[in-house]
Amino acid sequence: MDSRPTLAALRRGQDLAWLARRVVAFGIVVGAPIIAATWFRDGPHDAWVRWGYPPLGAVLLVFGWILIRRPAWALHAAITILVTLEVGWVVIAVGRIEQAPDAVTAWTSLIPTPLLGVVVCLIVGFLFQSTRTALLHGAAYTGLITGAMAVEFSRRPDGGEFVWQSVRYGVYLGVFLVLLLVLSRAKEHVTSAVAEAARADATASRMRDMAYLDELTGIANRRRLLEELGYQAGLLGPTHPVGVLYFDLDHFKVVNDTRGHDLGDQVLRSVAEITRRHLRPGDLLARLGGEEFVVVAPGTDHVHAVRLAERLRQALPDELEAALGFRVTASFGVTDLRADDSAASVLRRVDGFMYRAKAEGRDKVSAASA
Ligand code: GH3
Ligand code: MG
Ligand code: MG
Repeated sequence: MDSRPTLAALRRGQDLAWLARRVVAFGIVVGAPIIAATWFRDGPHDAWVRWGYPPLGAVLLVFGWILIRRPAWALHAAITILVTLEVGWVVIAVGRIEQAPDAVTAWTSLIPTPLLGVVVCLIVGFLFQSTRTALLHGAAYTGLITGAMAVEFSRRPDGGEFVWQSVRYGVYLGVFLVLLLVLSRAKEHVTSAVAEAARADATASRMRDMAYLDELTGIANRRRLLEELGYQAGLLGPTHPVGVLYFDLDHFKVVNDTRGHDLGDQVLRSVAEITRRHLRPGDLLARLGGEEFVVVAPGTDHVHAVRLAERLRQALPDELEAALGFRVTASFGVTDLRADDSAASVLRRVDGFMYRAKAEGRDKVSAASA
């Protein structure tokens, strides 16, 4: 399964975890060659690098595999690895201070590697944890490594000055933590604002649907139909005719009375579904109310509109029978939208043709002869 989110989903803030995974993956791609290069360069004369870096590289590669193959484990794996690395950096720092021939060498051996290690661990913590957890974790880890270094230096006869250096180093980390905190808070505000906007968007779209869709059939309702007729009247021209069909099911009351209202509803849904299959993508199908439907067919001239109505008149009973086991016919009126038409005037005219089809015996198409 592709876990890649769309840009829209990212904007909605749904996939910050995905983004965090990518950032860490990038870190691994950059970090693994650096680990390998350091091992080749410093390994022969630095026992920490010689023995510490291969497991570190292995952990990074395993984490990379988890990110790509088992993203669901990523969060737990990241926290486990983070804590392991942090303990590792503390052990390395303490070991270097103890083993160095003098305090100056001990101090320089801590920079930049353990320093950078701490910084990376803090950043990763803020990426994967909530601001509160990341802050507690960052403060604990900063305190731990600063304390460990200060204690180790204070045990060396020549380490006095570096106790204070260690504390200063801890203060820098504290400032860095505050910066991360500000960034993390900003990230959380953005995420919640974006989520709020997405919720508002969804509500607006649901309300639009409620305003423009017929609840029973899911097709356009009267309001949407009136807007479409007004809109199409504005586009009318010699090369842009608009056909309007109006149809009403025949003896529908009998269907309701003999088969029940629920099955009547099902007929209405099926009529909408079947009719929609016979229309072009730009056509609009609306339910005016009851068992009355209207098709607005832009780009369809009178001859083709009558043909469409005839096609629907023949197809509807057959397809309803195939779907529900009984036939229902419909009577059709057809007209063209005219430049001087209002939505009301065109509906009145086409309704008149539909009534003529009823009067002529139903299951008919009636249209202006012109
Ligand atoms: P005609 O051929 O003259 O059109 O006869 P008809 O029985 O179809 O016409 P009439 O207007 O007398 O009846 C329409 C029926 O449609 C009345 C009502 O029971 C039914 N109806 C209207 N809205 C709904 C609906 O939402 N669901 C169902 N099941 N029936 C509806
Ligand atoms: Mg009817
Ligand atoms: Mg009716």
